[in-house]
Amino acid sequence: QGAAPAPAMAEAAMAARVPPDEDEDECLPQYRHLLSPDLLAGQVAFITGGGSGIGFRIAEIFMRHGCRTVIASRNLQRVSEASKKLVAATGQQCLPLSMDVRQPQTIVAAVDEALKEFQRIDILINGAAGNFLCPASALSFNAFKTVIDIDTLGTFNTSKVIFEKYFRDHGGVIVNITATLSYRGQALQVHAGAAKAAIDAMTRHLAVEWGPNNVRVNSLAPGPISGTEGFRRLGGKLAEKFDQFSVIPLQRAGNKTEIAHSTLYLASPLSSYVTGTTLVVDGGSWLTSPNSFSALLGVWAAGANQ
Ligand code: NAP
Repeated sequence: QGAAPAPAMAEAAMAARVPPDEDEDECLPQYRHLLSPDLLAGQVAFITGGGSGIGFRIAEIFMRHGCRTVIASRNLQRVSEASKKLVAATGQQCLPLSMDVRQPQTIVAAVDEALKEFQRIDILINGAAGNFLCPASALSFNAFKTVIDIDTLGTFNTSKVIFEKYFRDHGGVIVNITATLSYRGQALQVHAGAAKAAIDAMTRHLAVEWGPNNVRVNSLAPGPISGTEGFRRLGGKLAEKFDQFSVIPLQRAGNKTEIAHSTLYLASPLSSYVTGTTLVVDGGSWLTSPNSFSALLGVWAAGANQ
């Protein structure tokens, strides 16, 4: 074995491997393709929660690979503004639609509109979710139910509508954005951990049932991802300030472009024989990060989750 590289060299080498990202919901000023720019040419992706955070970056990276997108969430103004930015940066089409994943009739209307516009849907990204830190004892019955409603039922509702309206006859790919919260029983996260664990189970059930229809179903579980609402609400900024990311094997938070790249792998023919699995994209975080009840209680008490 050779000598370990000098720290500055190692840092430069690492920086070169991490794709750049923007903290806000803005498109990347520059983008270097690692994969063929026409990887998703001719395809259409329906992305719930595509107006912000991780979903926004997934839409951008897909569009930079030739895909047209539908971005759907409750706030029409949010998705409309996001769509303008995405179209300007990529030159691809992006249809913004208002839809609540808890209300099947709004999903049916949005999917009808998307099919009218593009005549096809090839990829579904279930990214819509809600989360906050809260001790189980302080969580209202309704708060727990709301997270299950949005994350778990929302994922099922949207998958079922798109399967019945298009994937059953044409095949397709579903990527469910989940989390690693349940792997070690993350403190103050019983609601989101339970909701996401149910989605990982749904991923396997639907992969089995819909495989014969040529539908692949996988989950992608991100770790702490900077420049997102999730990061802000779950104490990521504080962790950054106190250098708590040094316990993560890769020594840092991830960024939205990294999640979008891994989602691109799962959504594209690069993963044509992959179904029913969860791809963890967390820098090794869940293996080593402290699951500190008292530290998270501090974040909660300080109102960082507001
Ligand atoms: P975000 O920006 O808050 O994204 C959530 C999106 O879901 C919003 O665009 C929101 O738009 C939409 N949404 C919420 N409720 C909805 C509903 N009832 N119907 C339709 N859309 C709804 O959060 P993010 O941090 O980027 O997270 C994106 C995904 O990654 C989530 O599934 C999250 O659980 C997962 N994740 C994130 C992290 C992280 O570090 N950020 C870590 C692990 C997992 P409207 O308000 O307009 O409806």
